[in-house]
Amino acid sequence: MSSRSKLLEDVKQHLCTCAAGLKLTPDMEVFLEVSMRELYVSLPVHMDDGSIKVFKGFRVQYNEALGPTKGGVRFHPDGTMETTRALAALMTWKCALHKLPLGGAKGGVICNPKELSHREIERLSRAYIRGIYQIIGPDRDIPAPDVYTNPQVMAWMMDEYSKLAGRNVFGSITGKPTSLGGSAGRYDATARGGLYTIREAAERLGINLKDSRVAVHGFGNVGYHAAYLAKKLYGCKVVAVSDSKGAIFSPYGLDPEDVSGHKHSTGSVLNYPGAENLTNKELLELDVEILIPASLENIITEENAGNIKARILAEMANGPTTFEGEAILNSKGIHIIPDILCNGGGVIVSYFEMVQNQSSTQWEEEEVRNRLERKMKEAYCSVYDFASKNNVEMRQAAYTLAVGRVVEAMQLRGWI
Ligand code: GLU
Repeated sequence: MSSRSKLLEDVKQHLCTCAAGLKLTPDMEVFLEVSMRELYVSLPVHMDDGSIKVFKGFRVQYNEALGPTKGGVRFHPDGTMETTRALAALMTWKCALHKLPLGGAKGGVICNPKELSHREIERLSRAYIRGIYQIIGPDRDIPAPDVYTNPQVMAWMMDEYSKLAGRNVFGSITGKPTSLGGSAGRYDATARGGLYTIREAAERLGINLKDSRVAVHGFGNVGYHAAYLAKKLYGCKVVAVSDSKGAIFSPYGLDPEDVSGHKHSTGSVLNYPGAENLTNKELLELDVEILIPASLENIITEENAGNIKARILAEMANGPTTFEGEAILNSKGIHIIPDILCNGGGVIVSYFEMVQNQSSTQWEEEEVRNRLERKMKEAYCSVYDFASKNNVEMRQAAYTLAVGRVVEAMQLRGWI
């Protein structure tokens, strides 16, 4: 099985684990295992050299029982419909778990943004919105950033949507720049929200975060801010970070801001002065208190789970742990903060952005952070309490709460 459909299989498996507890009928389960709407698009884009290249894209609206669907757009060379579908399912459970009035969706374009110019990315972003225009909108489905898409891409997408609609529709896209209706505090929301859950977990496990050793896998928007905030908010010692080219390690702790500068000037975190180069595999197996996967799916598998030494695994990426990998971590007593709980901060602040756009206001960053903190804390407590009370693992607790809410909405609507 390819690693891409592995995520989809795993998401279905997690759904199965909570089906009995929720007394789902086989028909309900079948419905929850499939997406409600999927669109394939072919996007012809004028390249800078005068040629035309056709890119393939997707949008999956997994389940809209709780409200308009919501989820990011990923620009990645390995994108597939199956991965997009799995990620859209995760968005559905994530929005439900965090009690947002939203369903779940995800989009993707198969491309390598590192090989595209600024203008080519703009034309591609606009073409994608033209391709999916008929099925999106503030009351239908609201795209946002994901891997390799950023506020500038969101600005182009919102502009394209607005041009097609013939009026400004700021609420059509979230994750926009703050000067164009974006929310303060959206840029680090996923990492910040994840850090709040780490704090809750550490408190319960009796771990003092000050000087706790942290390793972060992935140094994109989420990984960088996770490393930066772990040090800044709680005084953690960030001993290792990595990107697609490799990892660096220092037992004395790294300065994430300085490492980011090094990555910008050299193209990688590798060869950072005073640190030792490691492989990504070695980073995952370091002796640390907290391990933060913040890159892609299927990073922790049955192959390496047995070697993981962290006490807390904070899943800031979507689907970083395989089903089999998780069973091993559970048997070792590692506390997993599951993705739909840990990385919900991004979509929570996206939802705040929608609320601000609807009322043409902009909240101060302080207000966004306070609201985010309350939501993350509430969700963590509900999952932790459910897990303790019912003697189940954290992910099963999170799925049971989330899927239960979607099922209730479907029943009330008379769908099932
Ligand atoms: N792409 C992010 C996620 O996976 C955020 C989605 C959003 O803001 O809608 O949760």
